[in-house]
Amino acid sequence: MPRSPLSRKLKQKISAEGSISVEDYMGLCLTDAEHGYYRTGQPLGTDGDFITAPEISQMFGELIGLWSAALWQAMGEPRQFKLIELGPGRGALMSDALRAIRAVPGFLNALEMHLIEISEVLRAGQRRMLAPYGLPAWHEELSAVPAGPAVIIANEFFDALPIRQYIRANGGWRERRIGLAGKGRLAFTLGEPARLAPGDDPLPEEAEEGGIAEQRPAAAKVIQEFARRARAAPLAALTIDYGYERGYGDTFQAVRRHHYADPFCSPGESDLTAHVDFAALARAAKAEGLAVWGPMFQGEFLLRLGLEIRCERLLQHATAQQRAAIMAGVHRLVDPAAMGTLFKVMVMTDAGLGAPFPFAAAPGAARRSGA
Ligand code: SAH
Repeated sequence: MPRSPLSRKLKQKISAEGSISVEDYMGLCLTDAEHGYYRTGQPLGTDGDFITAPEISQMFGELIGLWSAALWQAMGEPRQFKLIELGPGRGALMSDALRAIRAVPGFLNALEMHLIEISEVLRAGQRRMLAPYGLPAWHEELSAVPAGPAVIIANEFFDALPIRQYIRANGGWRERRIGLAGKGRLAFTLGEPARLAPGDDPLPEEAEEGGIAEQRPAAAKVIQEFARRARAAPLAALTIDYGYERGYGDTFQAVRRHHYADPFCSPGESDLTAHVDFAALARAAKAEGLAVWGPMFQGEFLLRLGLEIRCERLLQHATAQQRAAIMAGVHRLVDPAAMGTLFKVMVMTDAGLGAPFPFAAAPGAARRSGA
């Protein structure tokens, strides 16, 4: 088994201190200052480990750019406006969004761009990609962005935040942890009975023996920050990710060079993620007084935003080869067999904003929290 520098560091830590939580393992593998996956490498693209929607089609970012302009209008066209992206990757979404936003000059003039990114490698790529649109401001954390009306965009960001895992044993929940097995191999081990702190998301009451449940405390922290901003100024936060609304199970996974990998093989050198629990995000948001819209399937969201019309415009000026690539991209984004339904879109807004396009207020605003 190949040894990564982080593998040595983790094994030393576990030998000295005992088993670690899945949350600490995932956190160290992804963001360890020295060897973390998102500190060192170039994760995205065909030469990297995985591909995301903005990398598949320029239309994804363009439509989100126009969506942001619609939200700015819904907020009364504030003269200063922050477009904030959490985990912008290679900057593809933001650059496509800004190109589309040029059609709305008032919005472009009001715009301040803020990127939340921990990877120096990715920051350098974002700087190059966004140079034609002026310099964004970079931050390690959302809390560093000054208050003010804003749209926040998070595509495949929440799935990269660490999860805790619990395992059902003898009718109760115990923490699933990571320790050392024979020959010093990293392996799952059973921890203490779950003791939830106030504010922790509840664990399911019923589950079969051996079933796994997950919590993501770091996501709740980000949502608290959305709520803090929303108390001071209009806010709409768009979250797009793969995940579920119901049920539970083990979704912890490693991906390397576009294939699933063993999460214990070469820690720090493969991408670790877990599916996003949209019901948990909605609970956290509502508890903070935010309004929650959706989730809606990604395919439906993009079609309602006008994907077909944009696609037809692109096809008019495309070569045969470009047409094939454009159509393949559209299918991948909306087809239920590809990303169309696994990926979901949820918007959290300040309680006063009203239904953000293309979400409709249900009769009696039933889908709106706090109402
Ligand atoms: N949104 C991009 C990239 C998704 S990959 C796209 O769709 O293509 C996850 C992104 O989040 C990367 O940019 C990564 O560096 C960043 N990231 C991961 N963990 C983070 C954290 N804790 N804080 C800030 N950024 C983080």
